[in-house]
Parts: sequence; C-alpha cells; structure tokens
Amino acid sequence: MRNKLARLSFILLLSLSTVPGTPTPAISVEAGPQIFEVIAVEAGQDIRTLRLNFPLDPVLAEGGKVYFLVERKHLKAIQEFGYSFTLETARFEQTGKKFLRPGTKIQGGLNGAYHSYLELAAQLKSLAASYPGLARLYIPGKSLENRNIYALKISDRPGQSEDEPGIALLGGHHAREWVSVEVPLLIGRYLLENYEREARVRDIVNSAEIWIVPLVNPDGLEYSILNYRLWRKNRRLNGDGSYGVDLNRNYAYQWAYDDLGSSPEPSSAVYRGTGPVSEPETEAVRNLFQNHRIQSAISYHSFSQLILYPWGYLDQPSEEEALFQSLAEDMAGLISQVNGRVYQTGRASASLYLTNGDFTDWAYGFFRTLAFTVELPPVDLLQGGFLNSESDIDLIFRENLPAALYLVERTIASYNGTRLSPLLRRELEKGNESMVKSRPDAAIRGRRAGSG
Ligand SMILES: [Zn+2]
Repeated sequence: MRNKLARLSFILLLSLSTVPGTPTPAISVEAGPQIFEVIAVEAGQDIRTLRLNFPLDPVLAEGGKVYFLVERKHLKAIQEFGYSFTLETARFEQTGKKFLRPGTKIQGGLNGAYHSYLELAAQLKSLAASYPGLARLYIPGKSLENRNIYALKISDRPGQSEDEPGIALLGGHHAREWVSVEVPLLIGRYLLENYEREARVRDIVNSAEIWIVPLVNPDGLEYSILNYRLWRKNRRLNGDGSYGVDLNRNYAYQWAYDDLGSSPEPSSAVYRGTGPVSEPETEAVRNLFQNHRIQSAISYHSFSQLILYPWGYLDQPSEEEALFQSLAEDMAGLISQVNGRVYQTGRASASLYLTNGDFTDWAYGFFRTLAFTVELPPVDLLQGGFLNSESDIDLIFRENLPAALYLVERTIASYNGTRLSPLLRRELEKGNESMVKSRPDAAIRGRRAGSG
C-alpha cells in the first residue's frame, strides 16, 4: 500500500548518512540523568530477545529496520550483546518547532498550531464561557506538577447529572502524541459550535453527557514541547533517578499482569509505576469514571491508524468481542469515507502488542465501558510518525468526527441504564463503596475566559 519509491529513498538516505555498527556521538537528548539516542536495528536480527534484555522504546518498524529510543548508557552493552545498529538521533531534533514540517505556518511558540497546556486551558475556559447552557469545565484531578486535568462536559443541562449515557473522549496520555490532544478538543468544539444549526448535533447533545478530556498528561506535553519532542511518559522522578511512568500502563485492571505488556523497569518507556493508579493523572481519570458511569469511550493516541479494543493484556476475546468488532469496523468505514485513509481494527493484544494496565482494559474491565483506542495517522514514520504537520490537524479531526458521532449515537440508542461489570458488581455487593464513589469533581465556575 505504501509508496515503494519513498521507501527506497528512505533506505538510501539511511545508508548514506550512517555507518552500520559504529555509533558516533550525535545530537542526544537529556532528560534528567537520562540521555537518549535513537537507533535503527536491522529487522533480521532477533528483535524480541533484544527487547527482553534492554529497555527499548520502539518508535517505528519500517524499511527492514526497527527504530528504538534508548538510553545512551545501554548502547555499548547492546553492541556487546551482538547487535549492530545505526545511530539516528540527529534525525530527531529536539524541539517542537523543528519538527513541524517545512512550509507549514508557525502560529506562535515551539508548538505551532498544537495546543500547549496553557493554550488548551484558555480554549476550554473560553468554550465553557461561550456556551454556558451546553458546557461546563471540571477538574477531576491534577498532575504531579500541579497542572489541572480538564474535563469539559457537554450536555443540554451540563450542571446536572441526568439519566443519560456518558461518553468520554480522551487524548494526550502520551506526551509526544500531540495530535491526540487536538482531535477530542476539536470534536467538543464542533458539538458546541453546531448545536444550533445541526439537528444531528442537537439530538446528540440533548441525549448524552459527553466528556472531553483532551490532555491526561499535561506535564509530559510541556516537557515534549520545551525539552524533548519524543517524550512519552509523565514526569515522575523514579527511585533510580530516571523519569516518568507510562500512564497507559498505570490503570488498575490486570496491572502488572506480565512484563511483556508493561515494564517493572523505571527507565523503560512502558514503565507501569510502583502500583496500580500510583500516578495522579490516572487517578483523575478514575475519579471521572467513578463519578459518572461512562458507557463508551475513545482514547486517542498516535500513530499507526488503528482502532483497538479489549483485551490488551491477554490475546483472548472479551465477552463482547462481536459488538466491539462491529463498532470498530463501522467506525473505520466512516473514517475511510472522509479522506480515504484506512484504519485497521482489532483486539489490542492481537493487533499491536500486549499491553497491561492500559485505559481500555480498565474501563471495560471495571465499568463495562465500551472503550476503544484510536491510533491516529500517520500509518508509519515515513509519513511523519509522531510528528504530524500543522496542516494535518484539521484533516485528522474531520476524518474522525463521523466515527465519534456514530459511537455516541449507538451508545444513546442502546442505553438502558447503567452497565456494571461483574467485577464492580462484586465490589458493590461486598459494600466496597470506595470502588464506586470518590470525591466530587471540582467545577470551574465563572465566565472569565483567558489565561489559565
Ligand atoms: Zn500513545
């Protein structure tokens, strides 16, 4: 499906610019005591063994090579382990501005048209202030560095909890996946701006409670903008001096099920933390779900154009595999009609790689939320990897809008009260109220728009 010429020139570029097996110091990236490099390993080597022995963060498999982010201190040991690789760090410059594609307009700041934390906060406050009858801004929790984690509730009586299905659209679990913040934000904005003029939007907003949580990991996003574009985790200072817990391995369902789907190693890109929900960012999402019985959800990530559903911890179908599969296929069909881009669908464990402690397994496992992970474009690093251009934002939002509206409509149509998982029902029977209720959300009152 991909352009063979592009692939060929990519390989040529690699072979001209690097000398296999002889890593030389290039631009490297410091994150506290950690210094990272990007290496490319020929796929003919035993990648699985390599990954089991070193904390490697895969960012691409392409052109017969697999690209990893790795701490510089491991490079020598990887060579001694018998693997040859090329050093590619120079291709991954450090700041946001350099990563925006040439020729696109920089609208201000290193992050261009992508929202920083403060820009996002201002936008959400402005939307809540402009549409007081339809939107209300909540803060279900704060990050480690004390930034707000925002949840914009969109409904016809946003200040009340009505007997309507809840739907959550989340983004920004992973710091470097900037476009995943934009898509839920733009969907929320679309609903508000088109409520008056579009009957379909009006029906949806009147019949559901839609929660827009565009940025689960604000500390990580800021770090990605200001320091290191490829940063993924939050900014927890771990006991060994490394930074970051992978928030999408920190949820409480089948947490630490095995060491393939998450890592006990603090410096790993998929480090799961010291315990389930050890991080305030995942706790914020838990608060939201415990307070508002959410029936379906999409967690946006990038990249690779996939629609994934539980289970991720084990390659087994869930009780509702058929429903998940048909919804995913319908959504992929709607997406492809917009810009022609194909999103593959499947069970998370079968489609991508095993994950444990991720959002979708937890939301479905605990709450029976029909939870999907949508991996946004591009399909691979040749098309930009984590680094979508500014002009991609609107295209990616447009192609994802019909699928999100469809999921909301299907959720409304099938709503007949609360879905409770067997697990949650057991906890309720045991009288474990803390599983179900937590402290109420802090709501933001007042109408002042502006800096956050
Ligand atoms: Zn992600």
